[in-house]
Amino acid sequence: MHAAFFDLDDTILDRSGSLRNFVEWQAKDALRLSAADSHNFVERFIALDQNGLVRKDKVYESLIEEFGISDWAVDELLNIYLLTFCAFCKPRKGALAALKGFQNSGYKIGLVSNGKTPFQERNFHALGFGDLFDCIIVSEAVGVRKPDKAIFELGCRAANVSLEKSYFIGDNPKADIEGAKKAGMKTIYVPVNSDVDRCEYADATFNDLSELPGYITHERFGSV
Ligand SMILES: [Mg+2]
Repeated sequence: MHAAFFDLDDTILDRSGSLRNFVEWQAKDALRLSAADSHNFVERFIALDQNGLVRKDKVYESLIEEFGISDWAVDELLNIYLLTFCAFCKPRKGALAALKGFQNSGYKIGLVSNGKTPFQERNFHALGFGDLFDCIIVSEAVGVRKPDKAIFELGCRAANVSLEKSYFIGDNPKADIEGAKKAGMKTIYVPVNSDVDRCEYADATFNDLSELPGYITHERFGSV
């Protein structure tokens, strides 16, 4: 049996687009900022967030100060994010085609995501793909994060497949691609931007997820 494991943020979830929609709603409808302030709030949130690298309590702390917000506390804004972001989650273009492509070729499908539980589970299930997945691993729940080899091993154990017969598909060259390659998996690097450097640990690279089904029908491991 073979398996394909996917990262969540910016791999099957369009995190950037979903985040922008959420923050626009938070600024306009929850905080009731003016149109001009809402626009600036969104741009500052996205800059401070650094593609998810910065903790959201830190992001909100800065925004409250920058925008002189006095009637909302950091924890309140953070809770709105944690509970409501899932309502704005939308898949990355081509994600469903990629998942179906693997499934139709007889692969088990798994999710291995760095992040908080149950936040990431909510975001994942909001995409509506949950039924396609054989296993879901979120780092906080298992106490180990990508690129640690142990989290890839956990995924394979949960899906009852070997590392050597598994693909990892992700947008992060270090956490996803280098991590999975060093764990012994095949890797498909799917950066969101076409102008990023190639990743030396990637067996294949695609910007468009809908190209994956065509790739695996040519590159599949021996006979399934
Ligand atoms: Mg990612």
